[in-house]
Amino acid sequence: MSILIEGGAVVTLGKNSRVINPGAVFIEKGLVKEIGDLKELKQKYTAADILDAKNKVVMPSFVNTHHHFYSTFARGLNIPGDPPANFGEILENMWWKLDDALLAESIYYSSLVPLIESARNGVTAVIDHHESQSYQLGSLDEIKKAVEEVGLKSVLCLGISDRFGKGKEGLEESRRFLGATSENVKGMVGLHASFTVDEDTLNESVKIADEFDAGIHVHCAEDLSDQKITGEKYGKSVIRRFKDAGVLNPKSLLVHCIHIDNDEIKTIKESGASVIHNPESNMNNAVGYSKVLDLYNKEIDVGIGTDGMTSSMLGQMRCAFLQARNEYKDPTVGFMEIPDMLLNNNPKILKKVAGWDMGTIKEGKPANIATVDYNPATPLNADNFLGHLLFGMSAPVVDSTISEGNIIMRHKQITTVDEEQIYAKARKAAKKVWDRI
Ligand SMILES: [Zn+2]
Repeated sequence: MSILIEGGAVVTLGKNSRVINPGAVFIEKGLVKEIGDLKELKQKYTAADILDAKNKVVMPSFVNTHHHFYSTFARGLNIPGDPPANFGEILENMWWKLDDALLAESIYYSSLVPLIESARNGVTAVIDHHESQSYQLGSLDEIKKAVEEVGLKSVLCLGISDRFGKGKEGLEESRRFLGATSENVKGMVGLHASFTVDEDTLNESVKIADEFDAGIHVHCAEDLSDQKITGEKYGKSVIRRFKDAGVLNPKSLLVHCIHIDNDEIKTIKESGASVIHNPESNMNNAVGYSKVLDLYNKEIDVGIGTDGMTSSMLGQMRCAFLQARNEYKDPTVGFMEIPDMLLNNNPKILKKVAGWDMGTIKEGKPANIATVDYNPATPLNADNFLGHLLFGMSAPVVDSTISEGNIIMRHKQITTVDEEQIYAKARKAAKKVWDRI
């Protein structure tokens, strides 16, 4: 199967990023065969499929480094009682109730929806962090099925936790799943957070990660309470505890890292672990600001995730950019750093945890591409692309999404699954979950 993406501004990204406008991309057997001038490539190739990209930016598809698919069913959920007043109450009164009510069907449908939304937002790889305390064994297979049906790639894990005494079961599911991954669905060892994971569970998690050469994906110091409880129970900081247990290495994902000190930053840097920034979620939970530019400037791999708030990476990047300027009270910061986190660090982090190669359109590489509605009103070139990205493509609408050479969305129509039917079934499954809560 061959595809010729015709027209539009082709932005390759990566080292020596090029802009070819009007450009074209010829894809054969899932790989990018040639990138070039529209006229030249049209003459040279007869493609089985033509994808029109006139008045669009043709760019590498995006990577989301921290999502919670199951959060879909929190939309519109009303739990009786006073609204949660702090982070502990947000978890206990809302998220832990929701995940505890999930069963196979609801895990499957709550995953299909954000996967479709990821494709709609030009995202072709998602690192997910799942929790479902009453249905842990086999839970990751439900998500895997959804990923494969939609046709994207994903790295899955179960957030192991002792909060309801089910840490052992979480370990069992993690070990089982890491032995049952596939070409498009890989695994990590997930931990909820330091304050809900006992010593035995923590040590066993590290053993499993070592056994499968997998990374550990864990929320770190999202709220001050994680540090407080960890300090009281174990006499050390969150990052120190994880370092001592052997959690930290280049494959680990430390999510949030809001309340960490300089010692902890140094420890993260030395370990090669990545930090995932989730600006919308942090603002929504009012848990504070992670000084991500400090981490970035220390050459820690900082990536951007959505933490279940949305599946739009361009939206999340813009939010991170504006918040950084506001928090640092400095209009000179963030312009290079924040887009770099999304466009370069996220693919780099994905490569570290799953070995997949994304983030550039390059001859010989798998075709993971998004075409985005954007007709530049001013000259667009390799030097000013970030300015267009941050200020022009502010409400971006992705037109088509290609994963490994397969068109998952063509001109805003999802091609792989029946979207209408899935949303209808998701609404029914969500109602059942809400009734259980
Ligand atoms: Zn999270």
